[in-house]
Amino acid sequence: MGVRIENLRLKYGDKLALDDINLEVNDGEFLVILGSSGSGKTTLLRCVSGLIEPTEGSVYIDDVDVTGYYPSDRNVAMVFQNFALYPHMTVYDNISLNLKLKKLPRNEIQKRVEEVARTLHIDGYLKKYPKQLSGGEQQRVGLARAMVRDPSVYLMDEPLSNLDAKLRHEMLGELRNFHDRVGKTTIYVCHDQDEAMALADRIVIINGGRIVQVGDPTELYDHPRDSFVASFIGNPPMNLLDCTVSKERGVTGLYFQGKKITAVPDLPEETERVTLGIRPESLIPDAKGPIEAEFDYTILSGSNNEINSLAGGKPLKAVVRRSMSNVSEINRYQHGDLMHFSIGKGMLYIFNAETGKIIKEMSTDEIESAERPDNTVQRF
Ligand code: ADP
Ligand code: MG
Repeated sequence: MGVRIENLRLKYGDKLALDDINLEVNDGEFLVILGSSGSGKTTLLRCVSGLIEPTEGSVYIDDVDVTGYYPSDRNVAMVFQNFALYPHMTVYDNISLNLKLKKLPRNEIQKRVEEVARTLHIDGYLKKYPKQLSGGEQQRVGLARAMVRDPSVYLMDEPLSNLDAKLRHEMLGELRNFHDRVGKTTIYVCHDQDEAMALADRIVIINGGRIVQVGDPTELYDHPRDSFVASFIGNPPMNLLDCTVSKERGVTGLYFQGKKITAVPDLPEETERVTLGIRPESLIPDAKGPIEAEFDYTILSGSNNEINSLAGGKPLKAVVRRSMSNVSEINRYQHGDLMHFSIGKGMLYIFNAETGKIIKEMSTDEIESAERPDNTVQRF
């Protein structure tokens, strides 16, 4: 059953927490709402669950306007960010409470609890009490309590935030498998883009109470609509360089700290300043490169080296395969050393410096032809 949110606004007193939210969640879809802390994710989920009533707008579940309905009449199962387990009940009783209230047969309850407990690796704890469990284990019990139900829609608010990295990774897989098995519409809120990329059919990026972009994970990664999305999706995130635009001998160039760093095809907007987006994977340490930076530190992650530097006072990150020949040279850099980068192959994104909106995206192959306008003539 799908969920539709129409023209939703929510005010806490004078403060507008959500503005002009329009969103359609398809039946059976795993939708992730991604945004930083304070962006309005929990508020939005609570509006869908019925725990808060929107100031304006409507919420539909399976085409029924449920805006004025009590949470209990919406048939949604919610995992709260700050959930509480009943301390005097065992894990088994905590998980099965809702099913008992619904008067399901005992063996049916047992079957469901055991299945969900196995999925979440808490089947060994069913007879224990919450205070005997770690924070992460308690969180999985909270998740199990929602998953064991058979609602129209699952609503999950950062359900994996207390888990250590390895367990979280495992749970991402289990959650996605569970979703594929039961096929229920799920709205899942988190602030971690890796989590969103791993789980989502589609991601909704929210910032300051407004939806910025909706799309499937690769769409958001490949075609960010603005510099906010660009800096949010991707790990490490896209570099954003403040550049000036200048035309010389018929070729438009982008200049960073006074040096030309790339030619670009003609821009559709007349502008003197732009923000250039370059993925860390497209930056190459290169002594002759035009981008000047101060080395800060490197982080080794598996087969890659992440080089962290500062360019124009802002972080500049490059991801380099460890197998590359110049890595030993990189290892000699010390904090504060001057180093240079050039732009390798990949996509480049040009954003409006004021609004952050995308002006043009292009591959570096396209740029090569812009740099040599004569070549295009020779082709004919
Ligand atoms: P998120 O879950 O994305 O971190 P929230 O939905 O919790 O964000 O909060 C969105 C904004 O609304 C924040 O600025 C927060 O401070 C504010 N807010 C949240 N709950 C309340 C409340 N009960 N009263 C007043 N302001 C609130
Ligand atoms: Mg929240």
